[in-house]
Amino acid sequence: MSEPETAGDVDPRATPGHIAELLGQVPTGLLIDGGWRPAETGQTFGVSDPATGQPLLRVADASPADALAGLAAADRAFPAWAATAPRDRAELLRAAFEEVLRRRDEFALLMTLEMGKPLPEAYGEVTYGGEFLRWFSEEAVRIQGRYGTTPEGNGRVLVSQHPVGPCYLITPWNFPLAMATRKIAPALAAGCTVVVKPASLTPLTTSLFAQVLLDVGVPAGVVNVLPTTASGPVSTAILEDPRVRKLSFTGSTPVGRDLLARSAPGVLRTSMELGGNAPFLVFPDADLDAAVEGALRAKFRNIGQACTAANRFFVHRSLAEEFTARVTAAVANYATGPGIRTGVTIGPLIEPRAVAKTGELVADAVARGATLRVGGHALEGAGSFFEATVVADVPAEAALMREEIFGPVLAITTFETEDEAVRLANATEYGLVSYVYTRDLARGQRLIERLATGMMGLNVGVVSNAAAPFGGWKQSGLGREGGLEGIREYLQTKYTLTPDPFA
Ligand code: NAD
Repeated sequence: MSEPETAGDVDPRATPGHIAELLGQVPTGLLIDGGWRPAETGQTFGVSDPATGQPLLRVADASPADALAGLAAADRAFPAWAATAPRDRAELLRAAFEEVLRRRDEFALLMTLEMGKPLPEAYGEVTYGGEFLRWFSEEAVRIQGRYGTTPEGNGRVLVSQHPVGPCYLITPWNFPLAMATRKIAPALAAGCTVVVKPASLTPLTTSLFAQVLLDVGVPAGVVNVLPTTASGPVSTAILEDPRVRKLSFTGSTPVGRDLLARSAPGVLRTSMELGGNAPFLVFPDADLDAAVEGALRAKFRNIGQACTAANRFFVHRSLAEEFTARVTAAVANYATGPGIRTGVTIGPLIEPRAVAKTGELVADAVARGATLRVGGHALEGAGSFFEATVVADVPAEAALMREEIFGPVLAITTFETEDEAVRLANATEYGLVSYVYTRDLARGQRLIERLATGMMGLNVGVVSNAAAPFGGWKQSGLGREGGLEGIREYLQTKYTLTPDPFA
């Protein structure tokens, strides 16, 4: 086995000078009605760099009163925004797309600083997140209804689409830009106004993006942003107010369940992008080179902290040792370190708690008989680092196979038959995504029908695309983001009956 790579120098785009200049540009207030303002209580909270534990900035900490001010602004702005020509809404989103790409260095560096992902991955997220702005700028002008004659011939049926109203959008910390654009772009395209609550661990990227929206001319009140450490009370204030008409949430399944319950009294439209526990199946007829490459991407992208991260690797017994040896050799070469350094594959986990949890999951698997092939340890010193890890022969009852890992641990087990693989893959309450490696076309088609997930990578390790309907089955969620489906989440249908005009 080769020696692990070591992290290189600081990337030339991430010097202390770049960082100081960037942080000087990030708005630190609450965005309400087109202006940045302090919290009504005067409270602030700190945002820190998970690679160092050091503070980056302090931002205003919204209270329930601020939340209602944000919602009031969204409510006031709604009629005019809904009546704005779709082409004008589209042009603003297109301008935001151009501006985000023009400022890609700032967005990428800011995500690496507040969230930890390696800088090249942060650039990848700028591209991915930006695509939602471009895609929904193109969808804004294609909101259509239909017209038909009743079967009896005595009337005409008109079906039209209308924006649902002010929306409350809650985003997680793992993709700070893309999770914001994936909600804000379709909402604005549909004619909705929004109140956004970013994750308190990573609010800075959302604020910089909101400033871009203001810069390109999105009117006051259309987008309001509320960083807060009081997620529960702020959300309660908004969800109990009849002016909000929709909740779109991305985050963990337990919080999603709670928010669904809290959306029930107001009978809110809801979109839920929740947790995953993705199976990754490698069949005996797979292209092993492709499967290894896909496995590494599906597992270690975003330091394993993606809802789409492959969580459980089921490898046919005939390939298991070869597959395990190859991923182990690759992982042994991964450099762990701050995402601003060159050559780093594994940045820090989001917080020390995540490091502790990852260590517990590995220890539990090993105690139950799994074999640790590489990694398995937290790094000493500042920052919340955990090495890239491969664990083989993981028994079904290990927590690694049941819980969402959300860390850089690749857990492998084996199967004998396709039926067994399908049964194991589907034995979870989650149903977000599955990955299948096979060269047998009929098998691939069977698995499309047999795997209970909202998305599937057939011989690919990353499925996200702005043009595709992202979302889960079972307890992984409700609704879809992206694709033709994404804008429908922000539209409501009206049917109008008129008499036969010839009668
Ligand atoms: P989380 O559920 O802890 O937090 C998500 C958001 O909800 C954050 O903004 C948080 O501040 C807020 N929140 C927390 N408690 C709340 C409450 N009581 N009321 C209102 N808001 C509350 O999740 P996380 O740790 O930020 O993100 C990781 C989770 O998100 C994982 O489970 C992952 O699978 C999931 N995720 C899903 C998708 C998807 O598209 N399906 C995408 C990314 C992440």
